[in-house]
Amino acid sequence: MAASPPSSSAPWRLVIHGGSGRMERGRIAEADEAEIRAALGRALGAGETILAGGGTALDAVEAAVKVLEDDPHFNAGRGSVFTYEGRIEMDAAIMDGRDRNAGAVSGVTATRNPISLARAVMADSPHVFLSREGADRFSRDEGLPQEEPGYFEIAERRRQLDELRGRPESEQFDVHLKYGTVGAVAVDAAGHVAAATSTGGLTGKRWGRIGDSPIIGAGCFADDRACAVSSTGAGEYFLRIGVAHEIAARMKYGGESAQAAADAVMAEVKALGGTGGVIVVAPDGSGAFSFNTPGMYRGTASAGSRTVAIYGDEGGERCAR
Ligand code: ASP
Repeated sequence: MAASPPSSSAPWRLVIHGGSGRMERGRIAEADEAEIRAALGRALGAGETILAGGGTALDAVEAAVKVLEDDPHFNAGRGSVFTYEGRIEMDAAIMDGRDRNAGAVSGVTATRNPISLARAVMADSPHVFLSREGADRFSRDEGLPQEEPGYFEIAERRRQLDELRGRPESEQFDVHLKYGTVGAVAVDAAGHVAAATSTGGLTGKRWGRIGDSPIIGAGCFADDRACAVSSTGAGEYFLRIGVAHEIAARMKYGGESAQAAADAVMAEVKALGGTGGVIVVAPDGSGAFSFNTPGMYRGTASAGSRTVAIYGDEGGERCAR
């Protein structure tokens, strides 16, 4: 769909996350913390360049997510977590709020940037969701950059898998042994929203497990009549609630603000026993972070302002206007 010409009066905004979890002061090495903050800043910069130049929210969220997929600190693209069998199987989804066009992939193994594959599914296939071998084949057919397994594999992720496999079977579902699913939501100067989410999933996932991240309405959703949402956390809970669509529905039908809707749905996730967080932007330029974990890698940018944060007690974590 062709972009509408930007109406310079609308405020653009970009909000990103790099996963939620037990990010507490002292748990993250200083050098890693600096690199993570720098990567979040680069991701904001990539999206900002597009939005400030009158580009689309869709291009901005893809560009921001690609930066985080390329950075090994995050559980997406390079640096994805390992399955129980020691493989990398990545999931991603993207959605355009203008027409609710969407694309998603699950269990892909070789595409350097799964978010671009999700976008290709949206733009170049008659489908919304492709999985595993078929998605890998479509990626090659589309000519997207491919990588050998060694490109994605990071020693720390292997250590996390070894730790998990050393535990009794009943303790092997541990949402804390990951960190770093990535996502971006944006509203552009024309008032259109878009969302993108990309992940390696959960360490030690088995049996072709799929989480919320690539599911339209759970880990990713965008609708110009409401908002754009990207989720991170214990996917099994986000799936059962349909978190991203639920936030949009509260805003669309109940007239709630982005922050109120996000907080209410995250309270539901918590009530079921789930942990994680969401980022939201609305067509009016307002936005929200909401998370029930000690921290969330996150950032927001709008004309003339940029904030990056990790810990729950850092200022700037709520971004409502
Ligand atoms: N939501 C992702 C999943 O369940 C994991 C995460 O966000 O950390 O696959």
